Amino acid sequence: MARTVLVTGGNRGIGLAIAQAFAKQGDRVAVTHRGSGAPEGLFGVQCDITDSAQVDAAFTEIEKELGPVEVLVANAGITDDTLLLRMSDEQFERVVDTNLKGSFRVAKRASSKMLRAKWGRMIFISSVVGLYGGPGQVNYAASKAGLVGMARSITRELGSRNITANVVAPGFIDTEMTSVLSDDRRAEIIKAVPAGRLAGADEVAAAVTFLASDAAAYINGAVIPVDGGLGMGH
Ligand code: NDP
Repeated sequence: MARTVLVTGGNRGIGLAIAQAFAKQGDRVAVTHRGSGAPEGLFGVQCDITDSAQVDAAFTEIEKELGPVEVLVANAGITDDTLLLRMSDEQFERVVDTNLKGSFRVAKRASSKMLRAKWGRMIFISSVVGLYGGPGQVNYAASKAGLVGMARSITRELGSRNITANVVAPGFIDTEMTSVLSDDRRAEIIKAVPAGRLAGADEVAAAVTFLASDAAAYINGAVIPVDGGLGMGH
């Protein structure tokens, strides 16, 4: 059955791969962008997830064009790395406001319609770094770990209404976000990953579309790693 899907930050990177995977299986897919427009075949809504009014307007537009959001993928995220000693309050707050509070904003807005439909899927894109930690990533890791507590609380609140809230924790994926890594850091990462390579964004998308499917109805509050074995046991 075709669903209405919203992928935040679905205009590029991992989000785009996720959006395209849903579109390929016949779903109606909306993506947010902050001015770049949407790639072909996807319904674009301009939305900065740090602004609740913009989030509300984006959902209203999607509801009008495609129907209520049944599958929410909270993917939009940023990094702003620096060591703890040098990290400003602003750097910490901006990353948490985007990655964690931005996910809260879209989850909250999606939840009322999911409750009415007595069906919904929320998938939060975290990171291996959320539970593994990363030097220079106090802000980013805190925001990504926070998504786990958030998803599990949503599971406890809404789990009896056929609504699932799961977390996908990618390892290192070849996108613009990782293109800024130095060659030395990239080599170090590849050495640490049992799979011995970075992943393609489509490998994250495969986990996300599965969690959104009817087959995954009994998977709730889970953290699914897609990290080539990097975070094992965390
Ligand atoms: P990119 O930097 O390639 O893309 C980030 C996306 O987030 C863009 O679509 C961007 O929109 C959007 N975005 C950022 N801030 C906002 C905002 N305030 N409002 C709306 N949209 C926003 O990142 P990736 O594709 O690599 O990452 C996607 C997700 O996966 C992130 O949450 C990231 O933390 C996570 N992740 C990535 C990993 C990797 O190795 N790449 C590993 C683990 C997790 P715009 O085009 O407008 O800037």
